[in-house]
Amino acid sequence: MARIIENIDLAAYTSFGASAMADRVVEWNSTSDLLGYLAGEGKEHFGGKWTILGEGCNTLFTEDYNGTIIRSVAKGIEVVGEDEQHLTIRAAAGEVWDDVVAWTTERGLWGAENLSAIPSSVGASAVQNIGAYGVEAKDIIVRVEVVRLDTLVVEYLSNAECRFGYRESIFKESLAGKVIITSVEYRLGKTAAPHLDYGTLRPEVEKIGDITPEGIRKAVVAIRESKLPDPKKIGNAGSFFKNPILPRGQVEELLKEYPTMPVYEVAGAPDSLKIATGWMIDTLGWKGKALGRAGVHSKQALVLVNLGGATGTEVMALAERICKEVKDRFGVEISPEVNIL
Ligand SMILES: Cc1cc2nc3c(=O)[nH]c(=O)nc-3n(C[C@H](O)[C@H](O)[C@H](O)COP(=O)(O)OP(=O)(O)OC[C@H]3O[C@@H](n4cnc5c(N)ncnc54)[C@H](O)[C@@H]3O)c2cc1C
Repeated sequence: MARIIENIDLAAYTSFGASAMADRVVEWNSTSDLLGYLAGEGKEHFGGKWTILGEGCNTLFTEDYNGTIIRSVAKGIEVVGEDEQHLTIRAAAGEVWDDVVAWTTERGLWGAENLSAIPSSVGASAVQNIGAYGVEAKDIIVRVEVVRLDTLVVEYLSNAECRFGYRESIFKESLAGKVIITSVEYRLGKTAAPHLDYGTLRPEVEKIGDITPEGIRKAVVAIRESKLPDPKKIGNAGSFFKNPILPRGQVEELLKEYPTMPVYEVAGAPDSLKIATGWMIDTLGWKGKALGRAGVHSKQALVLVNLGGATGTEVMALAERICKEVKDRFGVEISPEVNIL
């Protein structure tokens, strides 16, 4: 049976650690559990305001939530297919993503190692199409199991049907509010396929001297620990803003004025280029600075942090100030990657 917790502070449910009260949090731990809830008490709760939460690492509540938060605590990783080259696993939506990565690298399987230490639930790995070090979840997702909220029928979406893009998927677009993800299947390789050509990954792997999924995982974790704040110590949601993808001509104009601005090609979009929001925020002098109890991380300008006791409104005040300054100086609109509620 789903567990229903009434009148609860959401500070412990999100990595920002910002306080906000919710009417209730509903935790389900299997698909049948979820279906039972949706056909029962859920009918009443879904008549009001509701949302889905995973680990809360990409969500910021800016006010009390007068409604229902649905959260998967379903665990489990199982093998569902195998051939000479690959192993396919199914992970429950409430599994901690990094536990799934550890499961694969311990078995010498390739594909998930670059995505080590991203704080996420399995469900959100598909919603967000999480990515790091040149790899995205879409590269290994085979299909996603969902419960449709209108019919309460379990359905499967293939990788193509998920319409993955940069931190995008159908779950944020036409299926937003229409389905709950219950599990995700990932296909891992049995033969070596290292992706090391991103940032400082190759030298870090060479330092460790172990080009295996485990070795690459160690290198990724080491790099991330040296650069990113641990949400258990300092509240944050990783990159607060997206890196904008702009018409190539606009970026070329910007490069004339800012020749050191980092620019990245976008696969499949030759007329566009991606620029680095962190670089723009750093250039504006915001790195390590604060507005009240919300701040910009001292090592990574893309990450906004809760310096202690900041409310969601205080974090948004800082975010809005930064957006305005970026627009005024670079003529570029930036938008949050974080889900603001
Ligand atoms: C320190 C730090 C570093 C980070 N680094 C990275 C990084 O390198 N790469 C990257 O891509 N992201 C990164 N992030 C962002 C974050 O890890 C991802 O966005 C992650 O997917 C969030 O997972 P979550 O379970 O916490 O999602 P939540 O914030 O709980 O939810 C995110 C969205 O998914 C929806 N959702 C969650 N579960 C389900 C479900 N079962 N069914 C339907 N919808 C669901 C929610 O409604 C919400 O819209 C980082 C965050 C932090 C704090």
